[in-house]
Amino acid sequence: MKTQKPESIAAQALGWIDESTKEIVGQIHTSTTYIRDEDNQHRNGRAYARDHNPTFEQPEAVLNALEGGHQTRLFASGMAAATAVFQALNPGDHVIAPKVMYWSLRNWLKTFATRWGLQIEFVDATDLDAVRATIQPGKTKLVWIETPANPMWSITDIAATCEIAHAAGALVAVDSTVATPVLTRPIEHGADFVMHAATKYLNGHSDVVAGMLTATRDSETWQRIRGIRAQIGGIAGPFEAWLLMRGMRTLFPRVRTACASAQTIAEHFARHPLVAEVLYPGLPGFAGHEVAAKQMQGGFGGMMSIRVKQGAAAAIAVAASTQIWKRATSLGGVESLIEHRASVEGEGTPAPNDLLRLSVGIEATQDLIDDFEDALTAASRV
Ligand SMILES: *Cc1c(COP(=O)(O)O)cnc(C)c1O
Repeated sequence: MKTQKPESIAAQALGWIDESTKEIVGQIHTSTTYIRDEDNQHRNGRAYARDHNPTFEQPEAVLNALEGGHQTRLFASGMAAATAVFQALNPGDHVIAPKVMYWSLRNWLKTFATRWGLQIEFVDATDLDAVRATIQPGKTKLVWIETPANPMWSITDIAATCEIAHAAGALVAVDSTVATPVLTRPIEHGADFVMHAATKYLNGHSDVVAGMLTATRDSETWQRIRGIRAQIGGIAGPFEAWLLMRGMRTLFPRVRTACASAQTIAEHFARHPLVAEVLYPGLPGFAGHEVAAKQMQGGFGGMMSIRVKQGAAAAIAVAASTQIWKRATSLGGVESLIEHRASVEGEGTPAPNDLLRLSVGIEATQDLIDDFEDALTAASRV
């Protein structure tokens, strides 16, 4: 068969057909255990469902093809996937992480991972000189980046970071949750691992918690990560794995619709009198715009933040009065969400108090603009 374009791979889930039933949709496998051969071997490779549930294999194979990886593993959550990478390191290893990153992972790094012996330094990952100055050749084992990064949407140059890290003997892992393989394939830019909170765009319907990790090549670190999933057991349930595969089939049209809408919304509110600033990589004036244009194809993502000119109270009032934008955490679903991020993240957040994080869904763009506009106007009157 001809090599297929990513859109076709996703839509047809690699074209898998169940040979016994001829079904074009995979099954939900619930068995926790598998019959052994008569000589007590298990030649089909399955012994126990903590690591071997066949329902995982289709979403893993599809994401692996989309990312162009060596192998992909499904986890119980984005956090289970991300923390497996850090747990594969040794106590004493030096690690670089960005100052702007998914807050829950930053908290875990500052608490559990630090107690566990990792030496973690947080740098401004958009500043390559800062990364160069912080990396310790031979001692730094991992550089973790996220791009675009929550909740400022800062852009990190993946290729340049990989060059610096690899020269120092460190691996690079990219949290690519917000970019998705529709917009960026970090492996093409040199990344060693790609992580996704599959809870977000990959599933896309706000009804599954899952995470995925893709390795560029086989390595001792990847073997350790695989061992961590098998031993610690941060696995998704079969029903979640099946729902995720269903969601991934529409990844491309969902992400493209959200990107186009986000671009229009960002341009609209960038010149709005009640708005102090719109943070969106697709705006030419945005600090990371040029790097984003280089490493993102076909759009700048569905995530943005808007800073309300009248300050924190007005920002919270905006989130309180939108009707279509739903006031809830998370992102990457078909429905648009709005959140006052500083009060969620608490101490140590890079989010200014007047910032609202917006996850753009696939509703009519004009509805989203009108709804936010009405909320802004209402908030400006109190
Ligand atoms: C949500 C999220 C995570 C964590 O994923 P969970 O599935 O909630 O554990 C990690 N990184 C980013 C960028 C996220 O948005």
